[in-house]
Amino acid sequence: MKKIAFIGLGNMGGGMCANLVKAGHTVAAFDLSTEAVQAAATKGARAAASVADAVKDAEIIVSMLPAGKHVLGVYFGPEGVSAHAPKGALLIDCSTIAVTDAREAHAKADAAGFPMVDAPVSGGTAAAEAGTLTFMAGGTAEAFGQAEPVLKGMGRNIFHAGGAGNGQAAKIANNMLLGISMIGTCEAFNLAEKLGLDAETFFKISSVSSGQCWSMTSYCPAPGPVPASPANRDYKPGFAVAMMLKDLHLAADAARAAGAEIRLGEHAENIYQALSDKGLDGLDFSGVMKDVKGEIPRG
Ligand code: NAD
Repeated sequence: MKKIAFIGLGNMGGGMCANLVKAGHTVAAFDLSTEAVQAAATKGARAAASVADAVKDAEIIVSMLPAGKHVLGVYFGPEGVSAHAPKGALLIDCSTIAVTDAREAHAKADAAGFPMVDAPVSGGTAAAEAGTLTFMAGGTAEAFGQAEPVLKGMGRNIFHAGGAGNGQAAKIANNMLLGISMIGTCEAFNLAEKLGLDAETFFKISSVSSGQCWSMTSYCPAPGPVPASPANRDYKPGFAVAMMLKDLHLAADAARAAGAEIRLGEHAENIYQALSDKGLDGLDFSGVMKDVKGEIPRG
């Protein structure tokens, strides 16, 4: 069991931090929100007063922050982790950030004498609470070996995706595919309905045919076939349009930098951007069904 500092106790981090406590680790928790810190304390973590206080005797630092600028600031800013954590502590950043930011963080950590893994997650807040997240980690085999037992306290499937930043690369490529497949699934259900099939009938056929995908079988955007999917609660998230758009922007930026063609990825980015521009950031990402059905005014 390890001494862990957990930084970033939001929708995802709160549940992940609680699971590390449950796994038997000694956890010091910090967030800019004092309510979030208090909530972590009620679940058995020590309420830390600052990043410096959280990491002062940590063997491992885990973070779950909004974006790259927060991650670089928390780890390498003047009052950050690298200035206050014991040298050699393992850094595990689970946030979804740009591949370039992750690689910059790895280089800075390396120069400061800290092993690091980027370990973004697949799975939403329910998986964070249940400890069933999928982790895709980038870093050296040695750093991954150290991180894996800790990640197992928060997740079910843990993958080593390769060197620095490869966890983020796997995450954004996966989520780009998710965005594209969700739009495709909506179009298929809408087409089938317009041609005379109800959603249940089309689901029964397509979910065991070649069009089958996660967006259909686990998160069906048409109300009915998958009771737990947001389509059955007027597309309340779940995984909001804003989060999908963030990941599609990251994928598009990374694709431009790498010279990879992503025609459908860019198209998906534009479709989600249009929803966001109409003030629908808070809609579940499967709510693109409303757009496909023409229920959201165009233009
Ligand atoms: P969130 O906004 O709920 O939580 C982020 C937390 O970080 C907040 O509590 C905020 O106060 C804290 N924070 C920001 N700057 C800080 C600082 N300098 N020091 C300490 N705390 C700071 O976001 P979330 O939904 O928990 O997502 C976290 C990360 O996980 C994001 O990168 C997101 O893309 C990724 N992610 C989210 C989901 C999801 O379903 N919500 C799924 C997969 C991945």
